[in-house]
Amino acid sequence: MLKLRLLNAVAPAYFFMATVVTFVLHFGFFMPTIFPSSDTSPGCSTTVPTVVFLFLMFNALGNYAMTILYPAASANETAVPVCSPHCSDKVDAHYLLNGRHFCKLCKKVILKRDHHCFFTGNCIGNKNMRYFIMFCIYTSCTCLYSLVLGVAFLTVEYSISFENPLTFLTLLPLSTGYFFTGTISGLQLFLVLMLYVWLGIGLVCAGFCCQQVLLVARGQTWCQMQRRQLAENRSPWRSNLTDVFGSNWALGLILPVHTAQMCSEEPLNYHKNSNNKCFLFDKNNK
Ligand SMILES: [Zn+2]
Repeated sequence: MLKLRLLNAVAPAYFFMATVVTFVLHFGFFMPTIFPSSDTSPGCSTTVPTVVFLFLMFNALGNYAMTILYPAASANETAVPVCSPHCSDKVDAHYLLNGRHFCKLCKKVILKRDHHCFFTGNCIGNKNMRYFIMFCIYTSCTCLYSLVLGVAFLTVEYSISFENPLTFLTLLPLSTGYFFTGTISGLQLFLVLMLYVWLGIGLVCAGFCCQQVLLVARGQTWCQMQRRQLAENRSPWRSNLTDVFGSNWALGLILPVHTAQMCSEEPLNYHKNSNNKCFLFDKNNK
């Protein structure tokens, strides 16, 4: 549990640091080098790439904030469940009833919990799933866009050719070797490292986003899949997607705004049934 708490504190710091570094590299290095402004049309050539970057970043950070502002916690259930003597620290949440969980990190009862996101420091459930998915999409797009600009910068500034597909495989080990022999600067090595960071985050977010959209379409959560439970909700995929993305889903694709009306709270008999009852969140306890 200590490791999870540490990760819960380090991951948001890592996210903000990567965001600041991306901003600085974009406006301090990439734009002035790749699109140098001429005297005849000052700044004109940088407008489109800058607007694209700011749009992607605004949506990524906006949906990040909305994920935190609309937590999936239940407003009616604040009591901490009593753990059984066999409670394991290796699990991060206790399964209650009706798809609800008590998250040990959030210390709250989460409605239709999917998983705990360490980058936002919040649980993802029925209320903030839409923002989380859009956060993944735009983070992936921002990283892959920055990767393209980073490759263009290295090509223009340091004449590194990326025509050979194997260049990306050998770039990091060669750059590390050149750095220690004094051939390249620390900035150049840092830029190469950032290419791999952007590629890694971009691909992970894209893959994670596809998985979440598939689960939402099936009306299932990650917790249910872990516990090998079939979806309770047998609605058609279109209805499941509308429940999460709302009827104004198209607006939500381009702006981090509220588009879905959630029926969030639990049935009246929930408190009575879940009182002092704690089931371990593992597949041995179905
Ligand atoms: Zn949580």
